[in-house]
Amino acid sequence: MEKLAFPAPIVQIEDDRTATSVEALKRAILDNLYYIVGTTQANASNQEFFAAVAYTVRDRILARWFATLACYKQQDVRVVCYLSAEFLMGPHLANNLLNLDLEEPIRQAVAELGRDLGVIEEQESEPGLGNGGLGRLAACYLDSMATLGVPAIGYGIRYEFGIFSQQIRDGWQVELTDYWLRYGNPWEIRHPHEAVEVGYGGRTEGWTDSTGRYRVRWVPASVVRGVPYNTPIVGYRSGIANDLRLWRSESTESFYFDRFNSGDYQGAVAGKTFAENISKVLYPNDEEIQGKELRLQQQYFFTSCALQDMIRLHLRAGRQIDTFHEKWAIQLNDTHPSIGVAELMRLLVDEHGLDWEKAWEITSNTFSYTNHTLLPEALERWPRPMFASILPRHLEIINEINARFLSEVRKHFDGDEARVSRMSIIDEHGEKFVRMANLACVGSYRVNGVAALHTELLKKEVLRDFYELWPEKFINVTNGVTPRRWLAVSNPEQSALMTRRVGNGWLNNLDELKQLEGLAEDAAFRAEWRRVQHDVKVRLTNYILEATGISVDPSSMFDVLVKRIHEYKRQHLKVLHILTLYFRLKRKPNLEMAPRTFLFGGKAAPGYAMAKLIIKLINSVAEVVNTDPDVKHRLKVVFLPDYDVSLGQKVYPAADLSEQISTAGKEASGTGNMKFAMNGALTIGTLDGANIEIRDAVGHENFFLFGLTADQVQSTLAQGYRPRAIYESNPFLREVIDSISSGQFSHRDQNLFRPLLDQLLNSDPYLLFADYQSYIDCQDRVTEIYRDQEQWSRMAILNAARMGKFSSDRSIREYSENIWRVAAITLC
Ligand SMILES: *Cc1c(COP(=O)(O)O)cnc(C)c1O
Repeated sequence: MEKLAFPAPIVQIEDDRTATSVEALKRAILDNLYYIVGTTQANASNQEFFAAVAYTVRDRILARWFATLACYKQQDVRVVCYLSAEFLMGPHLANNLLNLDLEEPIRQAVAELGRDLGVIEEQESEPGLGNGGLGRLAACYLDSMATLGVPAIGYGIRYEFGIFSQQIRDGWQVELTDYWLRYGNPWEIRHPHEAVEVGYGGRTEGWTDSTGRYRVRWVPASVVRGVPYNTPIVGYRSGIANDLRLWRSESTESFYFDRFNSGDYQGAVAGKTFAENISKVLYPNDEEIQGKELRLQQQYFFTSCALQDMIRLHLRAGRQIDTFHEKWAIQLNDTHPSIGVAELMRLLVDEHGLDWEKAWEITSNTFSYTNHTLLPEALERWPRPMFASILPRHLEIINEINARFLSEVRKHFDGDEARVSRMSIIDEHGEKFVRMANLACVGSYRVNGVAALHTELLKKEVLRDFYELWPEKFINVTNGVTPRRWLAVSNPEQSALMTRRVGNGWLNNLDELKQLEGLAEDAAFRAEWRRVQHDVKVRLTNYILEATGISVDPSSMFDVLVKRIHEYKRQHLKVLHILTLYFRLKRKPNLEMAPRTFLFGGKAAPGYAMAKLIIKLINSVAEVVNTDPDVKHRLKVVFLPDYDVSLGQKVYPAADLSEQISTAGKEASGTGNMKFAMNGALTIGTLDGANIEIRDAVGHENFFLFGLTADQVQSTLAQGYRPRAIYESNPFLREVIDSISSGQFSHRDQNLFRPLLDQLLNSDPYLLFADYQSYIDCQDRVTEIYRDQEQWSRMAILNAARMGKFSSDRSIREYSENIWRVAAITLC
C-alpha cells in the first residue's frame, strides 16, 4: 500500500499536562479523580479510579486525534467511512495502553497510588454494541485502520442498551438489560453542535425551482435529532487516532414546541418518546432479521446522520459537492446501512440540486458492500407498505433507481423476465418487499464476501444474477482479527514468550511469527510453550470456579466451543460427542481416557426457542456428567454465562482445541476460528468459511478435518436426506439420542427436548447425523494425538506461527488497495 509521509503535526503531542512519566501520570490520575470524577483518592471506589485512569489516558490521546484530523484535511485524502449497525469494541483501557505504549508507566503509577492495574481494568463495562462476529469485525477493522494509518471514521449507533447480559437459571438462558452507561463512559465526547436532523414518515410534494426545474421535497411527519458521540481509536504505535462516531437520537425541541404550544401535551411527549426510542436498544438477533419498524428507523437514523456528517465535512473543507465520491469511500457492513444508497441520492438531488445522472455517478462510485451471510433467512427485506410509511421519498427514489437498473438488465439479458424479476430491488410477490441486498449491489462499485468459499458461493448462488451482470464488481476479502487485542492484550504470557524469541515486530506484522516455525522442533521451547499454556489455563480455571462454582482441572484438555448459539453452528453436535464419550465410560468405567473439559459459551437470540433449548441441553448434560462417579473427572462440561469480548479474551488463549463445526456452506467466514489458532489452539473443523484457508495456512497435517463439504451437503439434501436411517443404523448415535429422549438428562421428562430430537430425526436441516460418525472418528484422532504432548505442542506452535494472513491488517490492506483506493498516512 502506498504511504504518504506527513509534516510534523500541527498540535504539540506532549506538554506538561499530558506528559507520560510515572510522576506526571500519578498527578494526572489524582487531578482527574478530584476534578472530573469528583472524589478523593481515599474515598474512590475502583470503579471511580478506573474512570480517572481512563480520563488520564484519553487526555494523552487528544493531541494525536486533532493532529490526525488536521493531517487528513491538509493532505486532502480520501476518507473511509465504515458504516455498521454494530461495533463490538470490548473494553478500551488495556488496548489503548498497549497501542499508546503506556502500559508500564500507568501500571506503576496506579501501583504507587495503591491500586492494581488488573483490578482497575476489570472495572470497565464493555460497550456491547453488537451481537457477535459482524460487530467484532468492525471493531478489529477500526484497530487496523488506525494502526496502518488509513483515514477512517466508523459510523454507528450509540445504543443506550447493548446486547443483553445472559444469566443461566435452572439451565435456561435469562436475559437482563445491559445498562452499560450506568457509570458513564469516559472514552466518548459528545458533540452537540454537530447534531443533524433526521426525518420520518410524512409525504412528498413537487415544486418548481427558480430555474424552472421540477423538484421534489420530502415533508416528514416527524424529525429527530442525531447527536454524535466521538470515541478515539488509537492505532498501535502509529501516532494516529481515528474517530468512532456513534449517534444518539434525541427529540428536536423546536419541533415539539409547536405541539406543546397548541396544547397537545400528549403529542409532544409521545414525539419525545419516539425520538428517544430510536437509539434505545440493540436488536439481539444474530443472522436473523427482525422485520420491525424500529429496526428500519434505526438503520435510516445512523445512515442519514453519517451521510449528512460527511457532506458537511466535505463542504466545510471548501470542496464542491460533485467531488464527493473522490473524497469519501463508504463501506456498508452488511445491508443494515444500505438505505444509504437512496439517502445519498436524496441528499444530492433534493437537497443539493444535482441532476439524477450526476448524483448517480457520485453515489455508485462511493459505496461498497460487504455481504456476511449465506442464510436466506438473514437477507434483509422490508414490506413495501411499511417502508413507504417510514421513508416515502426513499421508496420513490428506489423505484427510479430500480426502473433504470432493470432496463439495463433487460438490455443485457434480452427477454429474460425471470431474471429481471429476481434482480428487481422490489420483490413483487405478495405484499411486496424492498430487497436491501439488491439495493446494495446496484448502488455499490464493489461487492465482497468475507472468505474465499463464501465469495464463491455468493457468485454461484445468492448473488449469481448480479455476478453475471457485473463480474468485475465481485471480490473476496477474507476476514481477519487484530493481533493486538486477540494476542497481545488477551494472552500476555504467550506474547512475551514469542517476543523473547522473535522480537515484537509481529504486533504490526503478524507474518513475523513465521520465525517460530523452527522452534517447533526445539524440545526446550516446546516445554516452555506448555508451561505458559498451563499458566493461562490456570487463570481461566480460577475464573470458571468464580463464575460457575465448578472446579475444572487445568491439566485436562480444554475443548472449547464459544460463539453465538445457532443451529447452523451445531453446538448440539458437540453435545452428541460428549454423550458418546460418556456412554463409553459408562460401559467401561476403567477405560483410560485423557481428561477433557468441555467449555461452552454464547448467547441465544431471545426469540430463538431452539437455540435456547440447546443451552438447556448443554446444562442438563453438564449436571449429569459432572456428578457421575463413573466419569471420575475425565469429563467436565461447563457453560460459561454471558459470553462477550471480555470473556473471549480469557477463553481463546486457554483453549487447546477449537471447535469450528458449522455445517459446510453455512458460516460465511468465522473469526473466532482465527483467534483460537493465533493463540495456539488446534482446530477441529469442517471445510467451511475461513476454516478452509486456516487449514491451508497452518498445514493440513496440523488441522483436524471432518465432515461433508459444501457441495456434498447440497447433494445430500437434494437426494432426499433421511436422518432417521442414520440413527437406525448407528448404535452409538442411537444410544445417545435415546438417552436424551428417555429423560435421562431431564429428570425423566421425556418432552423437554422433544422439539430438538424430532427435528434431528425427521429433517436435520444442518446434517448433524450425516457428519456424526466422521466427527466422532476425528475426535478420536484428537485424543490420540493429545496423548503425545510433544507432538501436540509442535502442531500448536506451527498453528500460531502460520496465522499471519489472518491479521485484520492484511484484510484492511486488501480493502484499501482493491476497494477503497486510499493511501495510508504516517505521521512524522
Ligand atoms: C470473535 C467473536 C465472535 C465471533 O465468533 P465466531 O466463532 O466467528 O462465530 C462472537 N462473539 C464474540 C464476543 C467474539 O469475540
